[in-house]
Amino acid sequence: MATAPRDYYQILGVPRTASADDIKKAFRRLARQYHPDLHAGGKKAEMEKKFKELNEAQEVLSDPDKRKKYDQYGTDWEQAQAFNKAREQAKSGGFGGPWGFEQGSGGQGAGGNEHFSDFFESLFGNRGRSATRDSDSGTPGEDLETDVQLALREVLTGVTRRVTLREPQTCATCLGNGHIRGRSCATCHGSGMTTESKTIEVRIPAGVQDGTRVRVAGKGQSGAYGGRRGDLYLHVTIAPDPIFRQQGSDLHATLPVYPWEAALGADVTAPTLVEPVKVKVPAGSKADGKLRLKGKGLPSATGGHGDLFLTLQIVMPTMMTDEEQVLYERLSKQRHPDPRMELLHTARRR
Ligand SMILES: [Zn+2]
Repeated sequence: MATAPRDYYQILGVPRTASADDIKKAFRRLARQYHPDLHAGGKKAEMEKKFKELNEAQEVLSDPDKRKKYDQYGTDWEQAQAFNKAREQAKSGGFGGPWGFEQGSGGQGAGGNEHFSDFFESLFGNRGRSATRDSDSGTPGEDLETDVQLALREVLTGVTRRVTLREPQTCATCLGNGHIRGRSCATCHGSGMTTESKTIEVRIPAGVQDGTRVRVAGKGQSGAYGGRRGDLYLHVTIAPDPIFRQQGSDLHATLPVYPWEAALGADVTAPTLVEPVKVKVPAGSKADGKLRLKGKGLPSATGGHGDLFLTLQIVMPTMMTDEEQVLYERLSKQRHPDPRMELLHTARRR
C-alpha cells in the first residue's frame, strides 16, 4: 500500500491549525498556479504531478471527517478508517467479513488514490518550496509560453498575431467549491477551476530571428491576491521559404540566367521579399557569381537591413530552334581551352 511520506498540510502550505477557509483558499490559489492546462512542454508534466498531489491533499483536508482521521492516523488514515468500519460491522454482527470493506470508502476519493502513490516521492524535494509560496504582496501569475511560426515576409515588417491562451475560470459546475455533496466535482476534478480559451493579439517586432523567445509583458496567467500577471513568451520559428534562405539578416536566393545573359550582360527582373526589382547582370558574369542587392535583406539588430545575395545559375533553354542549332555550331568552331583541363589535372595528381 501507499507508504510514501505525505504531509497534506505541507502540500497546501498551511499550518495544522488552518481553518477550513484557509485550506480552501490555499488550494484555490495553488490549483490556479499548477493547473496542467496552463502549462506546456516539460513543465506540464511537473504541474500535472503537483496538481494531483494538491487535489489529494485537498480531498482529505477539506472534509472535516477525513481531516480528523488524517490528523489522528496520519498517512494511514484510510486503512485506519477501513479497520474501524470493519470493527463496527463485526460488532453489530454485520455481514461482509474481513474483505467486505476492502475498498470500502465508497466514492470518496473517487478511487483516485492509487494514482497518487507513485508521484509522491518525485515531488518530495519540491514540497518545501511550494509550501512557502505565501506572500502578503500576492502571488504572481505563472508565465505562459506558446509557439508562433512566421513567414519570412512577416519578419520583414513585423506582424500582429492572434494567439489563443488558456485562462483559469471558476468551475461553473461546482461554483468553485471543488465538491458537490461531498464528492469531488467531475468537471474540475476538485480544483474548483476550469480553463477557458482566450484570444489576444500580440505584436511581433520586425527582424525577429528564428528560435527567439519574445516576451509579452503582463499577458501570462493572472496572479492571486493582487499579485501581478505573469508574462507571455512567444517561441518564434520562421517557416522555410521556397525562394529565400535566411542567414542572419541577409537573404540568399538563386537567379537563373541564360549563357548569353551572363556573357553579354543583361537587365533582368529578380524577386525580393517585397516587390521584384530590376537587376543588372554584368557582362562576363560567371556561373555561381553573386549579385548583392544592398538593404534588400531583413531588418538587422543594429537598425539597418541586411543584403540580398543572388547566386547566378546558368541555365539552358529547354527547346532549341534550328537557328540556335546553327549558332551553337558556329560557337563550337571557336577555339576554347578544354573546360575539363583543370579537373583532369587534379584527378591525375591524386
Ligand atoms: Zn467543479
